[in-house]
Amino acid sequence: MEDTIADQYLEREIDIILGGGARHFDPARREDGKDAAALFAQRGYTVVRTSAELQAAEKGVPLLGLFHNDHIPYIIDRQNFSDRWSDIPDLPRMMQAALAQIAPYAGGFFMQVEAARIDHAGHANDAATIVKEYLEFDRCIALAMEFQRNVPDTLVVVTTDHGCGGTMINGEGRDFLATNMAVRRLHAVPHSYEHFIQTHRDASDPAGIRADLAALVPQPNVSEDMIEAAVAETLAHLEERPLWQEAFGSIMHRFNRGFGVHFTTQNHTGEMVELTAFGAGKDAMGGFYSQMINYTMPSAL
Ligand SMILES: [Zn+2]
Repeated sequence: MEDTIADQYLEREIDIILGGGARHFDPARREDGKDAAALFAQRGYTVVRTSAELQAAEKGVPLLGLFHNDHIPYIIDRQNFSDRWSDIPDLPRMMQAALAQIAPYAGGFFMQVEAARIDHAGHANDAATIVKEYLEFDRCIALAMEFQRNVPDTLVVVTTDHGCGGTMINGEGRDFLATNMAVRRLHAVPHSYEHFIQTHRDASDPAGIRADLAALVPQPNVSEDMIEAAVAETLAHLEERPLWQEAFGSIMHRFNRGFGVHFTTQNHTGEMVELTAFGAGKDAMGGFYSQMINYTMPSAL
């Protein structure tokens, strides 16, 4: 299906596409062997693969940016392993590059900036990772607000199409006095569950598994026994079948209390979703919507 979506970007003449999923444009990795990236180039798109190429791209022409074969790695991993991921622009940088590409905005434009991996971290119940994904998206909202101040006839809509994980940041401790410490611990987490899985998929390094798992829970209230139990469960799981984020998340679930982040599920959730709008035409929308928002948005626009 994702190969088809890649083709649809071309059919629908989207001017700028930036993100991951390069394998869906690659003849060696597509089932049909189609060189989708070459088709974009033939149609006049500049095809860029790195942050530097994005920065140097000629302005005012269609642009296809493919910065990773799979999903873009989580921001927590891009920050903490910056030497490995330095070629990948972050979401605010992609947004700024896209805005620069289409300046001076003659005729207007529609831009969607999606922090899509919040959903993946929700399925994984990966507390530190989801919070940092939120924070990266928050930087994009600030950029949108700044843009709207400079170009006042812009409408900015901030929303989501569904919830995932039932994620909630909670006060912790008596009189909530443990909350700040929980947030500090959260920021000390060195990497995502996804990174752990990619590193230890073959289960060849039990000592490394123990060290990396312990690093994921920088909490004084975590006993050695709790860590050993989680390591044993992880190793047992790896023996049986591949470890995915969701499975690892259910092993790590017991530690989330120390971060003040709790989840209700590893699935999508049914809550109303918030829609915030500011700028030109903002009064036509705003408030809370059912998750039929996918259908509400076109009529509101
Ligand atoms: Zn999902």
